[in-house]
Amino acid sequence: MLDAQISFRKTSLVDYPGKIASVIFFSGCNLRCPWCQNRELVLTPQSAAGRISLEHALEQIEKRRNVLGGVVLSGGEPTLYRDLPALIRRIKAQGKLGLPGLSVKLDTNGTFPAVLEELLAAPDTRPDYIAMDLKIAPSRYAVLLPQSPGAGSLEAALQKSAALIRASGIPHEFRSLNLPNGFFGPADREALAPLAGDSPWNFRPFRPGNCLDPAWDEYEETAVD
Ligand code: SF4
Repeated sequence: MLDAQISFRKTSLVDYPGKIASVIFFSGCNLRCPWCQNRELVLTPQSAAGRISLEHALEQIEKRRNVLGGVVLSGGEPTLYRDLPALIRRIKAQGKLGLPGLSVKLDTNGTFPAVLEELLAAPDTRPDYIAMDLKIAPSRYAVLLPQSPGAGSLEAALQKSAALIRASGIPHEFRSLNLPNGFFGPADREALAPLAGDSPWNFRPFRPGNCLDPAWDEYEETAVD
């Protein structure tokens, strides 16, 4: 029995490249990106309105195994969930009615390389696709922490996660937002380039609305160059 209260999207055509997927959103995050649009997930407890039990979501997925291609584990930050290996094992295993296991995509901020290392170590917990965010230059991550003692260990963690993902042999991508007001500049891009290496690195525009820091809602939507 896997116990967590999560938010759930039954069907998505855009969260898992090339697959129809369900999306499980975990509560809680160790970062506080001011532009984050998952305010409810990041700040409110697991019991908040709109959450359902993880077991209930898994039942829904079980019923729809014949139409789904995969399940996306997102957040918040899914690597904070202590039973993540057991959850992935369960999704990838054959279903109760003999239907084949589903592929798993993991969305992560990359700050917990030990969890990634554990998942990658066994075939039944290896995600089938990983998307890791590259937010700003690793040396600047201190500004994304709830309290700001410094980002030294985060810098090493991000480098390790990116290296693990690049070497994993698993389809993956790195993702960045083109942040407004010069928050993501050429120096950030330069500092993050070694983490992405030769892997796909996709940029998306920033769009204001429901930002964790309401001041960010005043910024204009950005373009992607
Ligand atoms: S954008 Fe992602 S990493 Fe940043 S606070 Fe929101 S959920 Fe956490």
